[in-house]
Amino acid sequence: MLKVVNPANNETIKEVQTDTATTVSDKFRKAKSAQAKWAAQPLNSRLEVIRKFRALLEKDLEELAHTLTSEVGKPISQSRNEIKGTLGRIDFFLEKTPGVIRDESVFKDSAAPLEEVIGHEPLGVVANISAWNYPYFVGSNVFIPALLTGNAVLYKPSEFATLTGIAITERLHASGVPADVFSLVVGDGSIGVELLKNPVNGVFFTGSYATGKKIAEAVASRMIKVQLELGGKDPAYVCDDANVKNAAEGLADGAFYNNGQSCCSVERIYVHAKVYDQFVEHFVNTVKGFVTGDPNDEKTYIGPLTRAAQLSVVKNQVTDAMAKGAKLMVGGQKVANSKGHYFQPTVLTNVTHSMDVMREESFGPVIGIQKVANDNEALMLINDTAYGLTSAVYSASRERAHTILAQANSGSVYWNCCDRVSPRLPWSGRGHSGMGSTLSTLGIQTFLQPKAWHLRG
Ligand code: NAD
Repeated sequence: MLKVVNPANNETIKEVQTDTATTVSDKFRKAKSAQAKWAAQPLNSRLEVIRKFRALLEKDLEELAHTLTSEVGKPISQSRNEIKGTLGRIDFFLEKTPGVIRDESVFKDSAAPLEEVIGHEPLGVVANISAWNYPYFVGSNVFIPALLTGNAVLYKPSEFATLTGIAITERLHASGVPADVFSLVVGDGSIGVELLKNPVNGVFFTGSYATGKKIAEAVASRMIKVQLELGGKDPAYVCDDANVKNAAEGLADGAFYNNGQSCCSVERIYVHAKVYDQFVEHFVNTVKGFVTGDPNDEKTYIGPLTRAAQLSVVKNQVTDAMAKGAKLMVGGQKVANSKGHYFQPTVLTNVTHSMDVMREESFGPVIGIQKVANDNEALMLINDTAYGLTSAVYSASRERAHTILAQANSGSVYWNCCDRVSPRLPWSGRGHSGMGSTLSTLGIQTFLQPKAWHLRG
């Protein structure tokens, strides 16, 4: 059994039956035999089913938001935002899938006669192994386009977001996705290992670099599609010509939204020496205004960390930084007298790249702010990382920001904004942030394999 624990008070909400190696293999076999029929349906009927699912998410939004908050500790307003944002992503996939999946005649010579056509076929049965921090976003980035393009999906939500995984599965089935075409796999990493022992045709993973590496190694010899959306250590640079107050407020939100537990959370900030003191003052004031508390309270901005173990990761980064000369501006401790996994929003200055807080993913409410002399130093530090998810520059000049961002080794770049994902743009990481893209039309294509048709006669 899997214990679902509320991170705000450490109480067990529910116990859920986990899968076993046998039940997972059974689900795989059923998915394999159901997939061809699903793919053979006219696209319009799959679009209709996903439209119904979207309508159910919208109808049940309040109930689903409370379930999400109860198991991951996300403040309720942010849980609602995530589900609302998912509706927009589904709309994008509904609109764009017909154009992506359509056959394309690329050459025709009636005298020869010869026609060449690019066709698109689903991969087959795909494994969707997912994270807990945005279970609607990271799940639906995979299972919606996978289903629309005719794949069957074995969906393993994170063990920290199981109730949300169950709620999603129930609604997909109620909308008309056959039970064998979309199967829920319940359990922790050991069940993820079992899932991948089955001959799936693709693996779509969202999670940490450490797990992504294990998954890539486990399936390497099978020559199947492996897409990995992994962690980040996302930098932001504030130039001396930036609107400092706006930059400070925007970056504080980018660093602390969802308690810093976003793959694209701002995790390190560089500020031009000329505006450093002014920036730090605005930033710290903004952070001091964040309300920490019960995630069900509408006013709460900082809830508990989802995983108890992350409390010591964050604490160790603070201790390491302070031992190496960092200055603690606010926070720095676990919240006292709390039964939940609360850590105070924490700001460190005088940081350097010798400190873990500037190099290792924090995935919690802590940020380091470093002074830099010029754009070249900022760019060198931006790229001094094994990760490559997003980078941001705040400047009055689009040209200046463009010059820096064009050289940033990351999949997404932001001018005067941060911590932003759009369904219209590809979401992809470089280096330890992963490989492959979700979202945009590339994130639909990725669930298809091409077939080249050479047609004579
Ligand atoms: P995690 O790596 O601990 O777990 C992710 C999933 O993998 C879970 O479902 C887990 O049960 C499963 N798993 C664990 N070990 C496994 C194994 N050996 N084989 C198969 N499956 C296994 O990550 P997490 O804590 O759930 O998520 C946080 C991480 O995800 C952070 O690093 C964050 O940056 C990253 N993330 C990235 C993106 C992105 O789009 N790039 C989005 C969200 C989260």
